[in-house]
Amino acid sequence: MKKTIVLLPGDGIGPEVTRAAATVLRECGQEFDHQFEFVEMPVGGAAIDAAGTPLPSETLEACRKSDAVFLGAVGGPKWDGFPVGKRPESGLLDLRKGMGLYVNVRPVKVLDPLRGISPLKSERLGDLDLEIVRELAGGMYFGERGNVRENGTERAWDTESYSAPEIERVTTFAFERAENRSRRLCSVDKANVLTSSQLWRRTVTAMNAGYPTVKLEHMYVDNAAMQLTLRPAQFDVMLSTNMFGDILSDAAAALVGSIGLIPSGSFGSTAPLFEPIHGSAPSLVGTDSANPVASILSATMMLRDAFGLSLEADWVEQSLLRVLGGGYRTPDIIEPGAHAVGGAAFMEILREEMQRTLEHAERYGWGV
Ligand code: NAD
Repeated sequence: MKKTIVLLPGDGIGPEVTRAAATVLRECGQEFDHQFEFVEMPVGGAAIDAAGTPLPSETLEACRKSDAVFLGAVGGPKWDGFPVGKRPESGLLDLRKGMGLYVNVRPVKVLDPLRGISPLKSERLGDLDLEIVRELAGGMYFGERGNVRENGTERAWDTESYSAPEIERVTTFAFERAENRSRRLCSVDKANVLTSSQLWRRTVTAMNAGYPTVKLEHMYVDNAAMQLTLRPAQFDVMLSTNMFGDILSDAAAALVGSIGLIPSGSFGSTAPLFEPIHGSAPSLVGTDSANPVASILSATMMLRDAFGLSLEADWVEQSLLRVLGGGYRTPDIIEPGAHAVGGAAFMEILREEMQRTLEHAERYGWGV
């Protein structure tokens, strides 16, 4: 298989976690005879420094033409004083828009060796393995907004607005994800209060006819937030709007114990984009303590969801589980009795484990 992958390392710990993702992709290319061509481009603060803008047109063009994009993270104190629209983070919004990305998927799964670091007791956590499918290009973050001063009083507003086609395209995606998992879809809205949510609920309900094997459930967002904390394992695929999805996906991510563990993928009209959910963690730069797991899992998501390479993705993930099972941990996920290692050492141990998995494939039950 021949694929062009654009790497956008960005700022802060972005470059080191991007190296981790590139390492596993390169290993897969070499081991399974795929030709992965990597093209590295600037984005965020690094691009502001190099080209005066957080998203140079060459970067966007390369992303649009690629087969998949990997993004590290953007932002940092150096650029915090920049006006909105010129900051590193606006490069991200422009990138999503320029690539036509309208849906984001965030898988939240408890990794068995890491059950102990969850803030939930093990019996509450259950077999947590869900996906949050979030609309990414509409809703309140993109709606009409304003700010006026009337009779000496300031008033500001943002508008939640969705068209039926906008709801349909993300719902199609969510139903298809559910069909390939345990065929349960929970659509989250606030239809008891919001008109936009009533359209959302009607549209999702009508589309269930096209996916008769999927059991659809609706839940109000306040109840969904509570249920995520009380009994998260009840969910399989959760579908929601841009804003509700943003909030729920961070709440769900907290359940596994570190922001350094959760990957994500965004899909739309051009190439898909994969990225860890964390930011540039400025305080970790130069300390070799960034957890590379979110990046590694973003790379395996790319292998599986962009290229259809499940065997390769399983190879990396099974090896990763054994490294974690062996007690190797970066500082954010350390537990008593575990071996504290830096990000670079963790990657070395993972590479060795990936080789062992190849040698003992049958014993480990991989690829058989
Ligand atoms: P952050 O995700 O960078 O950090 C939050 C906390 O998590 C910090 O304590 C950090 O040390 C820790 N953390 C983050 N990634 C980690 C990892 N891989 N391993 C171990 N610990 C990790 O969020 P923040 O501090 O709110 O933001 C820092 C900068 O990142 C800001 O400029 C912000 O705008 C930007 N940001 C970028 C993205 C992105 O690029 N997608 C997302 C969120 C924030």
